[in-house]
Amino acid sequence: MQTSLLQQIVLASGNKGKLNEFDQMLAKFNIQVLSQSQFDVAEVAETGTTFVENAIIKARHAASVTGKPAIADDSGIEVDALAGEPGIYSARYSGEGATELSNYQKLLTEMTSKQDRAARFQCVLVYMRHAKDPTPIICQAAWEGSIAHAPQGQQGHGYDPIFIPQGFSKTAAELTSDEKNAHSHRGKALELLVATMKAKGIIQG
Ligand code: IMP
Repeated sequence: MQTSLLQQIVLASGNKGKLNEFDQMLAKFNIQVLSQSQFDVAEVAETGTTFVENAIIKARHAASVTGKPAIADDSGIEVDALAGEPGIYSARYSGEGATELSNYQKLLTEMTSKQDRAARFQCVLVYMRHAKDPTPIICQAAWEGSIAHAPQGQQGHGYDPIFIPQGFSKTAAELTSDEKNAHSHRGKALELLVATMKAKGIIQG
């Protein structure tokens, strides 16, 4: 049986939950996912105007500082009645000092008089072999749903308490983490990324 060497990939995020999620998904392919905080990679300004640009900026920066292949994700919530807002500005929606609570409260206020509650989470994942990689792998997935009238649930993070996924009558903050991973934008984008990396021979198994 042929065994492949352990490969290391840097995740352009300091978030422990994300690190575990990526590590679990890639460990079976002999990939070790390392956090960029281990290499003292500072946060980089997300100056793009799309999820794709911001994910590329983060992956390129992590690959440049560490000299290793890098994965970055960029995500957010898009609301139809608000012309796609908060979108790429989801983390900073309520301005300076924004918290998860102040962000979703602002969104609920903006939605007070709106009939159309349709919304979706978006996730873009980028893999770059090195900082000058001219053909990064880019995978995108969405999770359709609607905005609730009031927050509900204690699980998850961010906008989960006010997001009702399609096919459910409860918010994402009321789902177990297994239920959420099976349906979420990030879970689906990660599956696509793994499939693409396999198809390109970057990972075997
Ligand atoms: P980032 O991709 O970690 O920068 O997250 C961007 C923003 O989107 C943050 O405000 C998150 O709270 C929000 N967000 C992204 N994914 C989710 C999710 O699965 N649930 C709730 N909020 C999310």
